[in-house]
Amino acid sequence: MITMLLHADHVLTMDPANQVIADGAVAIEGDRIAAVGPAAELRTRYAGVPVRRLTNRLLMPGLVNAHLHSGLLRGTAEGLPVWDWLRMYIDPMHRVLRPEDAEAASFLCYAEAVLSGTTTVVDMWRYMQGSARAAEQIGNRTVMVPYVGEHPDYDYFDHLDDTEALLESWHGGAQGRVEVWVGLEHAFYATEAAHTRAIALAQKFGTGFHTHSNEAEVELREMQRRYGCRSIPALEKLGLLEAPRTLLAHCVWLDDDEIALLARRGVAVAHNPTSNMKLASGAAPVAKLRRAGVAVGIGTDGEKENNNLDMFEEMKFTSLLAKFASLDAAAMPAWDVLRMATIEGARAIGKDDEIGSLERGKKADLIALRTDTPRLTPLFGGVDGNLHHNLVHAVRGGDVDLTMVDGRIIVEDGQLKTADMTDLIARVHEVVPGLFFRRAAWLAKHTDGAISPIGRD
Ligand SMILES: [Zn+2]
Repeated sequence: MITMLLHADHVLTMDPANQVIADGAVAIEGDRIAAVGPAAELRTRYAGVPVRRLTNRLLMPGLVNAHLHSGLLRGTAEGLPVWDWLRMYIDPMHRVLRPEDAEAASFLCYAEAVLSGTTTVVDMWRYMQGSARAAEQIGNRTVMVPYVGEHPDYDYFDHLDDTEALLESWHGGAQGRVEVWVGLEHAFYATEAAHTRAIALAQKFGTGFHTHSNEAEVELREMQRRYGCRSIPALEKLGLLEAPRTLLAHCVWLDDDEIALLARRGVAVAHNPTSNMKLASGAAPVAKLRRAGVAVGIGTDGEKENNNLDMFEEMKFTSLLAKFASLDAAAMPAWDVLRMATIEGARAIGKDDEIGSLERGKKADLIALRTDTPRLTPLFGGVDGNLHHNLVHAVRGGDVDLTMVDGRIIVEDGQLKTADMTDLIARVHEVVPGLFFRRAAWLAKHTDGAISPIGRD
């Protein structure tokens, strides 16, 4: 039974033709999309069904954030390149993180995501039973990937036992909105026995594998030292490309053989332009990857390397970084960027038959944006108008007015409906002083004290 009709000025479908329907509508049946088409036609066909008239609004698929970390270090880990940054700020935080900190971080992160138009997140984080509770309450779709280290030098992360427990308790949970994947912080944060177990777990549960790879040149040197080759052939040699599906974050430093190998093995990539710029990692060869057939989604990375989770901003940087790095103003066209943030991101996580576009039979995961704003004016709809350029280069996450996941409205009039934002923020303020204090104490004991645990610029 059709439960609701959403009628908007523009419906951006992100179907294979990038069809934009002026004065369009989406019919919702429970948690799915029953029809998409001209409003006049759908209103006649479904006469009597309640209509939600979204005046001065654009409807589009909810965005897929293909790589992020919940976290609490926003603005406190600044001004260092990636490897020093990990050593000085991030790894010491992991040593002292507690489950209550981690849960507060996921509530905050998922709230920020849905308020800015993201309906699906791939979250690599810790103590993810709390993240699952956050996803259940906030109402977003989440691929949860515990941050695992299984190596004597990196023994302060979650462990594969935690991943297995999470797979058993939450995989397919929250009415199917929560999926659990197997992850490693990095290949060399784990022993070869752990690599084998990680992939065996992914295979046993028929799920994905996610890790960081080819992020910075320093990493390539370390992989060469340990395994005698570049990172992607090393992952293959170590058996880490054998999961039912694999998603690698960053992939900035790739040579042509590695790109061919990723394509051949059906490995997907999460592109993180803000993080790659902020940590001075480099510009990923996104156009080459996509030409080779690799599915490339877009991810914000975490609050500490971005410093927000606004996927509209990330789309803009995806476009700008490609243009800047290639000195080609035509690089990374707006339609390609929009596809990466929606349907291609869904393909990168193996969910493109369920989400990523507004098409009949798919999950009702969608967002409405205000179009009556200075930054969206003037607006010309249709496939040849300026709408797609404005969505990539002008819109901000705060323009999102309504967010629906599984047919349920979780953001309305720009407000979170599923939790009290004031409480979520208060909860973060309760836990962060302790987290920062414990990290400072750990650093004072284990370094010469020359480096402050708080950002230095
Ligand atoms: Zn990351």
